Amino acid sequence: MSNVPAEVAELLRRHDRILVAAHANPDGDAVGACVALGWALRELDKNVLLYNATGFPEYLSWLRLPSPLLASLDRLPAPPDLVVALDCGEAKRLGSDLSSLLNSVPSINIDHHPGNPAYGSLYNWVDPGMSSTGEMVGMVAGALGVPLTGVLAESLYVALVSDTGSFAYDSTTPGSLRLAASLTEQGLNVSAVRARLDNSWSEPKLRLWGRLMQEARLLEDGRLAAGLVSRALLDELGAAREDCEGFVEQLRRVSSVRVAVMLREAEPDADGRACTRVSLRSSGADDVRAVAAQFGGGGHKNAAGATLPLDMERALTVMLPYIRHVWSRDDMRAGRIPPCPSAAPRVV
Ligand code: 5GP
Ligand code: MN
Repeated sequence: MSNVPAEVAELLRRHDRILVAAHANPDGDAVGACVALGWALRELDKNVLLYNATGFPEYLSWLRLPSPLLASLDRLPAPPDLVVALDCGEAKRLGSDLSSLLNSVPSINIDHHPGNPAYGSLYNWVDPGMSSTGEMVGMVAGALGVPLTGVLAESLYVALVSDTGSFAYDSTTPGSLRLAASLTEQGLNVSAVRARLDNSWSEPKLRLWGRLMQEARLLEDGRLAAGLVSRALLDELGAAREDCEGFVEQLRRVSSVRVAVMLREAEPDADGRACTRVSLRSSGADDVRAVAAQFGGGGHKNAAGATLPLDMERALTVMLPYIRHVWSRDDMRAGRIPPCPSAAPRVV
């Protein structure tokens, strides 16, 4: 078997001005993978720049960055000679600035989203069996001979816990636990990182989660939990968009719930139409990626998202038949209800 992390490491060694990027509105895996790779490249004396179309969230601001973080490519002193795209299932999620740069600058695509179309022009390492992109970056850093210590280790840990739900989801692989063990062996202070991640709420976030729990809807005989977050609610409480991060997992905690959905009112699109960001969660065989994919989104089997050009109520209404299909398909397979093809939405 070819040694993929070593091949990626070799390509990184051959370049000097390296731009490291991830998907817009990055989660802990996207940020952690970028910061970790940035520090690994700094160890090799590379010229590193980080890029994210929407910047990094405030709750991870304690992770010391290896280089400036750009949100626009307008003022690049010189073009990079390599772009590394991390945790990004499709090029357009990098933002329009960067996805057009990919036409002229060679790129490496490292990702674990199923359905990634391998848009890297120089190399693609896409493995949906990986817990997180952070795990893949950890293997590349290992192949580069960089010690997994300091901020690099903290970022990898953030990536791992973010995408495995602190080693609780199906994505908790032996590889993810091995990397966590290796980071701990090399001196990572797990409780200090956890305290930074967990004990960092603002009062507006506390109040927001209280309201969202109070107002959550349990639909479909308790199988669906839905939370709606309007901009007016965020404004009223002085809460930020990123304060919603993680709330959908709370909806999933209700024992009857098969699918949890959070709908967040986003900025209207260029034509002034309402827009809703949707986050979907499930467990086990229940596949919410199939739902997100129907609306131009994507993600993983148990965690997926999409943006719909509709207001929140309409977005929930149009998604409902597809969401019902998540459990009815499974029930049919298990013989719990008779197949009734006409009742199932057409999944293309
Ligand atoms: P979240 O709900 O936390 O925003 O995203 C859950 C998962 O779905 C993440 O792996 C994220 O990358 C992916 N995801 C979220 N929104 C989109 C989208 O619009 N398109 C694609 N392809 N993936 C998405
Ligand atoms: Mn990820």
